[in-house]
Amino acid sequence: MSQSILILPGDGIGPEVAAAAKACLQAVAELEGLEFTFSEAPFGGAGIDACGEPLPEETLRAAEAADAIFLGAVGGPQWDHAPKRPEQGLLGLRKALGLFANLRPVKVFKGLEHLSPLKEDRVAGADVLIVRELTGGLYFGEKREGDDEAFDGCSYSRAEVSRIAEIGFKAAQGRKGKLTSVDKANVLATSRLWRKTVNDLSSQYPDVTVDHLYVDAAAMALVTHPARFDVIVTENLFGDILSDEAAVVAGSIGLLGSASLGASGPGLFEPIHGSAPDIAGQDKANPSGAIASAAMLLRYGLDQPKAADRLEAALEAALLHDERTADLGGTAKGSAFAQSVLAHIQTAQ
Ligand code: ATP
Ligand code: MG
Repeated sequence: MSQSILILPGDGIGPEVAAAAKACLQAVAELEGLEFTFSEAPFGGAGIDACGEPLPEETLRAAEAADAIFLGAVGGPQWDHAPKRPEQGLLGLRKALGLFANLRPVKVFKGLEHLSPLKEDRVAGADVLIVRELTGGLYFGEKREGDDEAFDGCSYSRAEVSRIAEIGFKAAQGRKGKLTSVDKANVLATSRLWRKTVNDLSSQYPDVTVDHLYVDAAAMALVTHPARFDVIVTENLFGDILSDEAAVVAGSIGLLGSASLGASGPGLFEPIHGSAPDIAGQDKANPSGAIASAAMLLRYGLDQPKAADRLEAALEAALLHDERTADLGGTAKGSAFAQSVLAHIQTAQ
């Protein structure tokens, strides 16, 4: 059975890194005996240029019909004064697809420990997946704003907590089997419901070990003992803060991927970096974050864990053994580094 992948190259370095990711997906598919069909659609600034809209109607229809969506990056100074912003396309797409879970893995790659602001022996082996709730909590609660008083409401239902916790449990099953739920249950009612819901669900996942941390303790542990974590599941605001903190621990934004998932329908996979207009079109962009996102697309989007393992192993090998791109202190062009990953795909298991 063929699986369909929609590629939204987007803007800036988006098309360069998307091309590298696509080449990797094709190579892995061939070796693993998988059948993928690829299509492309304009999105972000490229959507504005082509159709006057950051999320053209046809792109949205193609997205809804796809099994998984890969996005390069959106935005750039040329659209600063456009009537519509490229980033609006991303908000629209997330909403249309009902993407309520954001997965941000933070890995300290072998041979790159020196990039972390933390001591090398402290970060060695750190490999954390942060699962952040994306559609509830303080961001979307009732708001009142006056000159002397302001109010932000925070609410979560059991159903909202359950569905994000389930994603955390399932992700832990495919990793080291450890789930850390992060909350502030000593002061917040929503956090007490969160904790209770996670505990109630845990009997359905006997192979996953669960612990709970207050968000302040979790923020400390991410810098003192990052390797203690496997999967972290947390609510919207805590996840926003912790995922940026964790990304800094890894040392480079060019290395990390992300996934946004809904209840059914396609997930959206994209590197965490932006469109980097300062280096676009010069073959300088590090494709690693895009390739890591492609591996997540295989794992969480198409349920192809063996193919995902192969691609991740190839990326790790290339980062360890081959000439790196300039952002990592090397001299390789982005396309040359992508070729290195392709070569390791042939030999990685
Ligand atoms: P956003 O588009 O989310 O606002 P930003 O402007 O904060 O993003 P980026 O566009 O990611 O950030 O770029 C920040 C810096 O990191 C730039 O100097 C850019 O050149 C560099 N950078 C980003 N991604 C990469 C990459 N894949 N390879 C090399 N350098 C990168
Ligand atoms: Mg930017």
